Amino acid sequence: MPRRIASHKIPVDRISRSAIRVVESLRKANYETYLVGGCVRDLLLGLVPKDFDVATSATPEEVRKVFPRARLIGRRFRIVHVRMGREIIEVSTFRKQIDRDAASSHGEQEARDGLIVRDNVYGNIDEDAFRRDFTVNALYYDPANNTVLDFVKGMQDLDSRTLRLIGNPKVRYQEDPVRILRAIRLAAKLDFSIEKNTERAISPRGESLYAVPPPRLFDEFNKLLMTGAAERAFELLQKFNLLEILFPLSSESTELVITALQSTDQRIALEKPVTPAFVLAALLWHQYKSQCNASSTVGNSQETQFEAARNVIQQQRTVSIPKRHAFFIRDVWHLQLRLERRNPRSIGPLLEHRRFRAAYDFLLLRAGNAEVEPELAQWWTEMQTLNSTEQQDRISGLSPQRKKRRRRSKRDNA
Ligand code: ATP
Ligand code: MG
Repeated sequence: MPRRIASHKIPVDRISRSAIRVVESLRKANYETYLVGGCVRDLLLGLVPKDFDVATSATPEEVRKVFPRARLIGRRFRIVHVRMGREIIEVSTFRKQIDRDAASSHGEQEARDGLIVRDNVYGNIDEDAFRRDFTVNALYYDPANNTVLDFVKGMQDLDSRTLRLIGNPKVRYQEDPVRILRAIRLAAKLDFSIEKNTERAISPRGESLYAVPPPRLFDEFNKLLMTGAAERAFELLQKFNLLEILFPLSSESTELVITALQSTDQRIALEKPVTPAFVLAALLWHQYKSQCNASSTVGNSQETQFEAARNVIQQQRTVSIPKRHAFFIRDVWHLQLRLERRNPRSIGPLLEHRRFRAAYDFLLLRAGNAEVEPELAQWWTEMQTLNSTEQQDRISGLSPQRKKRRRRSKRDNA
């Protein structure tokens, strides 16, 4: 039997109206329905939830009958996205915890070497609570009577700020290795400690991440960067020897990456836009540079650079990098050399380049890391504050020959 908690500190006005409407509509159609997961956890902690998840006894098809325009997504784990204005509410059907022995013989719940490749066997709410990952993620909120349902002592762990896997950690990581990264993300984001057994099972299972589809690992890695606590998450990845699995780094890259993570965290705190591609550019920068150096004797330098960038990005087999980010990374890298050259004719076009800002920020990182002269970064900082005539004067200041030529032609014209 779950514990029913009425004396909690959920600020009711922070709950999304859309999420409540989804719960109410499903209940009206006689389906047992609650808010669940990260939103309940975050509300109890006084944080603003990133999104709202709903758990229900209705199957995805039944949810679609209530919300005909909703979208059914996922294969491994089927859920329904209900759009309400600008918000998307994720609705998932109560599921059972997988029985590993029975799993491989069951069509909708499939496992290979203990890894769950499909998880669509529906169940009731208490079964649903036990198949979730962490105790603090298995709390259900009933908006009708403002109570929290707790099947797994999640409230206790929430109060002591502890992240604890439900069940046997070894088995739970084996079923889905992404839970390892979720542990790190949530510990970093919430500043929670990881319960001993949950923690001890992480490192020995690190290599199981190789079995996760690379695009799913990218999604999870991306979430990790966007927590606002990316630097802390990175430290945890290092502590558990996971970084070498995701992105093998040379020691000379670490400083650059940490600065990129700090800048990402600061931007999130200031509610400025951020892209994971900036951190990826830093993570892979030294690989790119050594590829460029290794092949610099063949072909012209631009081709060498393109080739090196393509190779480095494509070589990332554990975490795949989506195309849109690959373009960003490549541009930021290529612009570095052009920024270093300060070729007078390129300066105008460079300042206009759509990736100039990102490339300049990256140059600042490198200057902070003593990879380029601070004077170069200052020069580009100043360039941005000048109008075009002042820029020209400053540029010709760079090239005395051009200045002389200009003076001579002025004299001739007079
Ligand atoms: P966030 O604040 O990032 O949204 P979250 O905990 O809500 O954090 P979601 O990915 O939105 O994360 O997942 C919603 C809920 O689904 C989780 O709280 C957890 O109960 C359950 N869940 C998600 N991923 C897993 C998983 N890999 N294994 C077991 N349960 C999971
Ligand atoms: Mg969520």
